Amino acid sequence: MARAAGIDLGTTNSVIAAWEGGEASVIPNAEGSRTTPSVVAFLETGERLVGQLARRQAILNPKGTIYSVKRFIGRRFEEVEEEAKQVTYDVVPDEHGNARIKVRDKLYAPEEISALILRKLADDAGRNLGERVTEAVITVPAYFNDAQRTATRDAGKIAGLEVLRIINEPTAAALAYGLDKRQHETVLVFDLGGGTFDVSVLDVGDGVVEVRATAGDTHLGGDDFDRRIVDHLAEQFQKENGIDLRNDPQALQRLYEAAERAKIELSSVTQTQVNLPFITADASGPKHLTMTLMRSTFEQLTADLVERTMGPVRQAMSDAKVGPDDIDEVILVGGSTRIPAVQALVRRLTGGKDPNMTVNPDEVVAVGAAIQAGVLKGDVSDVLLLDVTPLSLGVETQGGLMTRIVERNTTIPVRRSETFSTAADNQPAVDVVVLQGERERAADNRVLGRFQLTNIRPAPRGEPQIEVITDIDANGILNVTARDKDTGAEQGITISESTNLDQSDVERMVREAEQNRSSDQQLREEVDARNQLDSLAYQVQRRLDELGDAAPSHERSRAEMLVADARQAVADQAPTDRVRELTDELQQVLAGLNAVSAGGGGSADASVGAGAGAGGATGGDDDVIDAEFDRS
Ligand code: AMP
Repeated sequence: MARAAGIDLGTTNSVIAAWEGGEASVIPNAEGSRTTPSVVAFLETGERLVGQLARRQAILNPKGTIYSVKRFIGRRFEEVEEEAKQVTYDVVPDEHGNARIKVRDKLYAPEEISALILRKLADDAGRNLGERVTEAVITVPAYFNDAQRTATRDAGKIAGLEVLRIINEPTAAALAYGLDKRQHETVLVFDLGGGTFDVSVLDVGDGVVEVRATAGDTHLGGDDFDRRIVDHLAEQFQKENGIDLRNDPQALQRLYEAAERAKIELSSVTQTQVNLPFITADASGPKHLTMTLMRSTFEQLTADLVERTMGPVRQAMSDAKVGPDDIDEVILVGGSTRIPAVQALVRRLTGGKDPNMTVNPDEVVAVGAAIQAGVLKGDVSDVLLLDVTPLSLGVETQGGLMTRIVERNTTIPVRRSETFSTAADNQPAVDVVVLQGERERAADNRVLGRFQLTNIRPAPRGEPQIEVITDIDANGILNVTARDKDTGAEQGITISESTNLDQSDVERMVREAEQNRSSDQQLREEVDARNQLDSLAYQVQRRLDELGDAAPSHERSRAEMLVADARQAVADQAPTDRVRELTDELQQVLAGLNAVSAGGGGSADASVGAGAGAGGATGGDDDVIDAEFDRS
């Protein structure tokens, strides 16, 4: 028989769990451990190691041991250049600019490395369960963009798994606690793992989990705590023996392992012994390292690391517009949340609440994923998952603005459509530029992709109805389609090329939007005013053409002069005062011309409500706005 599992594919460690006898349980690996280091090693001999064995030889094989590959999955090289400098193996661009791992002249996609980890997890679990694991729900950080999600899904496929769904890690954690079954609650998920820190604020209840906000630090985790102990031990040793153990890879590997063990022990005892016999030797003979480490010393060595979690927690709460009193539950995720000082800080930040940690913090995400797998296979009922978009999505419209179609923090899956039109008469095609970000000006946002819709029916500007449909599925993968409602011509893209936003990008983009809010708002008003004037000039011209000789000559010449002035003002990007003045005058002229026509056979004026850009863009599915595509 085949089984479905939940997999937490972590930066440092991974965990697999499956639905068994009415509950989700973690399945140990072949070595008997419930967590598996997310490490793959390529040895000189051609042998490949995955998990604990790979980790154990990491320092001795720095170029051939691949760890933290999650930092590179679904990303372009240029976006991870800094990150690449921080790992011991080589990360290079392939011919398309995607990040690749290079080991002895062979290039590996991060997906392939992740697939090796997934394969081991699934194989080991299968042996343990006596049934093959063929399907999986895999978790990713809430801030992963669609390229990173797609790549994670691909890793599952490469590993031979059918990926039932990609879900967010904090969402999985909330599911593991069954919080989705409560009434409406606000939950803070504090996730401090081996190499990364994530904090999320969720709304849960009535079978729904919604991520309200996320923040974090992509370079903060247990490894940093280990390094502080390593440095401390090495410095003490150097003082006594004059030898820096950090220069000897063998000794350093042993120091790291001992430091991590000591750190873990100090979570439950207040003092521990580090013993490393024969750690090195000099002319006088072999040397041994024996030291006592107090919890208080450890706390002093790492106080600043613990403090660093405060900023993101406050940020997430402020983004979600909640204070400590609004938080009903706190969930701890990640092995490093067992550190007493970390727990104390979490309590302090959340108004003294006792955090939930009855589900093992290392395992809680995999357990939640297994529950979701159970839901999807029909073994568990009553759970529905909702996540949110980290940034707004939209398209570029006339005047170089971004018109939003899906607002930031909208619950997914979501499908929204907006109707746009052309910016010129007989315009045969529109360029659809798909944008992500919070700024008003298109150029200040991130271009996710672009495509052209051609074969638009020849028509006056503003008449063609072009529907743009934005569809984000439950895995966060984005499809954008544009359709000419008249001709049925349709074009679209699935955004699966690297869009590459990590949490710090999201934070930066939101912060920049905040900082520039008033100048952005002014820019939008200016562009809207110009678009409105442009549209009005067009209408007046059309009216004049319609009326022909029926237009009184002095009104005609005034109108023509104003139309020319208006077009000039638009082209010159004249000051808004001037634009408004011309708009007023043109409106009067248009009213006058419409009055003329009243005697001559009804108003055939299908006027375009130009420049509605910002106002109506956020409404429901059927909203129609008349912001126009830029013609390029
Ligand atoms: P994760 O990636 O969530 O599995 O977290 C792994 C990190 O948690 C590693 O840095 C571990 O050393 C750390 N860790 C695991 N157990 C403990 C513990 N009892 N006390 C402190 N840190 C721990």
